Amino acid sequence: MDTISAPGFGRRAFLGGTFAAVGGLAIAQEQKTVAAPSIARNPLIYHFKIGEIDAWSISDGHSLMGKGNPLGMMWPEEDRPQMKSWMEERNEHMDGIPLYINILVIRRGNEVVLFDAGFRPGSNPNLAWLSDGLKQIGIAPEQVTAGLLSHAHGDHLEGFVREGKPAFPNAAFYFLPDEYDFWHGPNPDFSKSKRSKSPLPALVKSVRADFEVLKGVAQPIKPGTELFGGMVTVEAAPGHTSGHAIFRIRSGTESLLHFVDLAHHHGLNFYNPGWTIEFDHDPVLAVETRKKVFAMAAAERTRCYGFHVPWPGLGQILPVGGGYLWHAERWSWGS
Ligand SMILES: [Zn+2]
Repeated sequence: MDTISAPGFGRRAFLGGTFAAVGGLAIAQEQKTVAAPSIARNPLIYHFKIGEIDAWSISDGHSLMGKGNPLGMMWPEEDRPQMKSWMEERNEHMDGIPLYINILVIRRGNEVVLFDAGFRPGSNPNLAWLSDGLKQIGIAPEQVTAGLLSHAHGDHLEGFVREGKPAFPNAAFYFLPDEYDFWHGPNPDFSKSKRSKSPLPALVKSVRADFEVLKGVAQPIKPGTELFGGMVTVEAAPGHTSGHAIFRIRSGTESLLHFVDLAHHHGLNFYNPGWTIEFDHDPVLAVETRKKVFAMAAAERTRCYGFHVPWPGLGQILPVGGGYLWHAERWSWGS
């Protein structure tokens, strides 16, 4: 790494030292070498293994939600004072709920599988990084053989479509039929959801348009389906949406449970799995599913991956008190 040799701050000046007279005293002024700012390595890609499988966590970017009143997004409303205490005790920032977007990519032989595809590229430079990430690991869009959709919210679905065409032209597009049916029903029912209703007509339109683009590669699958010779099992985990899917990836004795949107916050949803975010279509069912899956993952001490927990998103769900703790896995570059 080169250093900047700015006049007066270079190596020569440091070695020689300079002197200045202050109040009659000669004071040595040590001028330190100023190191050039190192080229920032964008923490976008993390490589790891699941048995024989190569896996990457690619960040699709980041954002803050609920700016100004983040706990206004969290329910039940009467528990917000408790949530606030939880946040304050841990010095968590109160300026918003962080939105991490972690895309899992796995490769075994020629099989390259994406688990969701992030946002559609748009005006926000902090989002839609997946295609850059794939490029950096040498995977061309044509090499992706399968895309698994967990559910049809924009941060999961949009990246599968690029300029009106499938973004990954050779990839089969898998999803649970309940998800398709919800969005394509005559009147998608958001009556149980706490979310703002005004963006919904545009959201439904956008989801339908994306499914339309992908219909040629669409592969609806039943819960419990094993894909790619048993490498991936797709399971139903409804509540966040009707057809919300989670995934188990296996290789030899190792496995990974991708719990996708069963948690939107690394603390609140674990400390009390009854606390839930406004985006759930059916909050009661979402909580029930979260409790069930967390209990199972904690009992089995399963290695887990989350779409919205801090990047790279690997860790374990530990039982603590009446709730849980998200324990991020140790990680290191070069793995
Ligand atoms: Zn999500």
